[in-house]
Amino acid sequence: MKGFSVRMNRRSFLQQTGLGILAMSTVKDFKDIFAASKDSDSIMPVLFVGHGSPMNAIEDNEFSTGWMNVGKSLPKPKAILCVSAHWQTRGTMVTAMEKPQTIHDFGGFPKALFDKQYPAPGSPEFAKETKELIKKTSVSLDEDWGLDHGTWSVLARMFPNADIPTYQLSLDYTQPPEYHYELAKELQELRKKGILIIGSGNIVHNLRMVRLEMPDGFDWAVEFDDKIRKALEERDHKSIIHYEDYGSIAKLSIPTNEHYLPLLYAIALQQKNENLAFFNAKNLGGSISMRSLIIH
Ligand code: ZN
Repeated sequence: MKGFSVRMNRRSFLQQTGLGILAMSTVKDFKDIFAASKDSDSIMPVLFVGHGSPMNAIEDNEFSTGWMNVGKSLPKPKAILCVSAHWQTRGTMVTAMEKPQTIHDFGGFPKALFDKQYPAPGSPEFAKETKELIKKTSVSLDEDWGLDHGTWSVLARMFPNADIPTYQLSLDYTQPPEYHYELAKELQELRKKGILIIGSGNIVHNLRMVRLEMPDGFDWAVEFDDKIRKALEERDHKSIIHYEDYGSIAKLSIPTNEHYLPLLYAIALQQKNENLAFFNAKNLGGSISMRSLIIH
C-alpha cells in the first residue's frame, strides 16, 4: 500500500501568490515566550506549524526566521515525528527507513529548492514503537516515502544541522476529523521519550483564492482563523474538530482538509496543565494562514 502526495500546481500557486518574491523581514524573538519549554525537559513540547510555500526552506523571511527562533528555543529532541499535510494514505503508516529521502513533491520551483537536501536519519526503532503504541488502527511500516516538503521545508530552518532522527506519520484520507484527533492522543507517550511531535499544514489554506496584492486576509479567512484562535485559547477542541459547523467561512478556508488535520494531531496532545503560544500568526496572500503554535 503506497502513499501518494498531492502535488501542488506550482505555476498557478506562484502566479497567484508571488510567494517566491515576497520580501518579508519582521523578526520576532521567541526566546522569552518559550523559555519555559527549556526548563521542563520531562515532556517534549508539541508544535503545529503553518508551512505555506516550500520556498520558506531557502528563503529568509519572517516565517522562516520564526521557525529558526523556535528551533533555538526548544530542548534538543531525541527524534522528530511529523504529521504532514502532504502524506495522505489509505490506512495509517509510519516511515521506518534508516535514511529517508528528501522528497521534492512540487513542480517548477527554482533549481536551488530542488537541490536542497535534508539528510536527517530516520528512526526505525521509534517507528516500530509508534506502530505498537497506536491501538486505534493497524499501522503499517513504510519503506518508500521519506520526508516531504511539509516536513523538511520547516525542519531545514528549525533544525538546520539535520542530525535529529526524523520520521513521518501519514494522514488516513478515508477518516473523519474526530478519528485523527483520537488517534493522536495515543502518541502522548512519545513526548515523554523526548520525541518532538509536529503537525505541519495550514489552518486556512485556499490556494485558488490566493491574491498577492492583499496584505491581509479575506474577511472570511481572518474570521475563520480568529474563530480557531479563540477556540484554541479556550481549549474548545470540540469546535476545532467540528470546524464544518462554522459554515461558509470554514468551506472557504478549508476546501479540502489535509492542511487542517495536522492541527488536530497537535491539540489532541495538549494536557490540562499545558500552555499554548502562537507564532507566525499572520495571513498571507488573502487565503493562507501561517498561524503556528507551541504547546508546552
Ligand atoms: Zn502544504
